[in-house]
Amino acid sequence: MLHIVLFGPPGSGKGTQSEKIIEKYGLVHISTGDLLREEVAGQTELGKKAKAIMDKGELVSDDIVIRMIRNKLEENQNGSGYIFDGFPRTVDQARGLRKALTDYDDRVSVMISLEVPREELVKRLLKRGEETGRTDDNLEIINNRIDVYNRQTIPVTYYYDKMHKHAAVEGTGSVNKIFDRIVEVIDKVKD
Ligand code: ADP
Repeated sequence: MLHIVLFGPPGSGKGTQSEKIIEKYGLVHISTGDLLREEVAGQTELGKKAKAIMDKGELVSDDIVIRMIRNKLEENQNGSGYIFDGFPRTVDQARGLRKALTDYDDRVSVMISLEVPREELVKRLLKRGEETGRTDDNLEIINNRIDVYNRQTIPVTYYYDKMHKHAAVEGTGSVNKIFDRIVEVIDKVKD
């Protein structure tokens, strides 16, 4: 099975590239950001707790996120593989993912990190905020999300480096050009 972790800072284009990867490889998309926003929209207990944290640009607790992932894996046992988008975001989440997949005798095939300079991230997210009204896409919160990424999430790259599963991809240029770079990486690990 092909299991891809698509990794990168907020605004690096994970959502956009996920769609293209899913179309080409027929994977099941698991975005913890989307799952959390569904909980917020549904005004569930979890959603109410998560909203306050997301609005500050901080990370929701590992326990909650790992539980959501385990539920998704349970629901989708017959797919051809997963693309994890926005997860894992901490080393503990990476360990949690490894344990969860091991229960199915499975593992991550590759972790692809999209590399984009900070100024470009801020520009893209401000534009998205204007277009979609996403409440966490405003300058102060964007800056905090990038700081949180640099502090808590970057260490996840070292985790996959150690397992020789980390591939860095330049995340600037046209959407198709970036996709071509991603396909090159995936085709090397496929089968
Ligand atoms: P972005 O990558 O653009 O910040 P996401 O949709 O992935 O957007 O995440 C939005 C918010 O949801 C994050 O700022 C965080 O509060 C929360 N979140 C999403 N995924 C996770 C995760 N794996 N662990 C903890 N919090 C998460």
